[in-house]
Amino acid sequence: MRTYIVLLGPPGVGKGTQAELIAKTTGLPHISSGDLFRENIKDATELGTQAQSFMNKGELVPDDLTIAMIRNRLSQPDCSQGALLDGFPRTTVQAEALEKLLAEFGGKVNFVPYITASESTLVERLSGRWTCKAQGHIFHEKYNPPKKPGVCDVDGSELYQRDDDKAETVTRRIQVYFKQTAPLIAYYRERGSLSEIDGARPIEKVTADLLAVLGK
Ligand code: AMP
Repeated sequence: MRTYIVLLGPPGVGKGTQAELIAKTTGLPHISSGDLFRENIKDATELGTQAQSFMNKGELVPDDLTIAMIRNRLSQPDCSQGALLDGFPRTTVQAEALEKLLAEFGGKVNFVPYITASESTLVERLSGRWTCKAQGHIFHEKYNPPKKPGVCDVDGSELYQRDDDKAETVTRRIQVYFKQTAPLIAYYRERGSLSEIDGARPIEKVTADLLAVLGK
């Protein structure tokens, strides 16, 4: 049986950090739509060029481009047992497209952990976030600092601050979340797959709750 997990929650709540940890325990591939877009930008693909202008403004990339990218990724052989989705879906149109796509694979969204935190926590998390250039590993200067400043603990590559983690864009991303993504809370609650988790606690406490939700 395939298992599909959708990590839901606002930007900066810790989805990426938790997804990296949970992927190890579940063995499912961690699929981050934001990481996929950033890889496309790095590789200067047509999709990367199209996505960049939206990302720089803190807006969502259009649904058709995003859905096509995820469809392609979920069709890869490493997703044969399912996947852990981080940052997708972000609109109701995407959630409906995902439902159809997973039905084609004979699967469905099994778990939707919804991680929450106050807006001030999100802003603090995003503005102190450092991301690894090679593989997108995530650190925070105060809450999860790398052993050596500016260097990724996992692969030794350089850490950088994402352009869209700057103050003006952060505010816009949070607004966009409340307007376009928050309706998915009700969408998944109605389907009985939502579990709320308080994300304003230390990383390991959130991980423990997540694993409990997943029955691990
Ligand atoms: P993230 O790394 O999840 O914070 O995503 C960074 C940016 O990528 C977002 O602000 C959007 O511009 C874009 N993006 C990521 N995932 C999606 C999605 N599911 N739908 C539309 N845009 C997305």
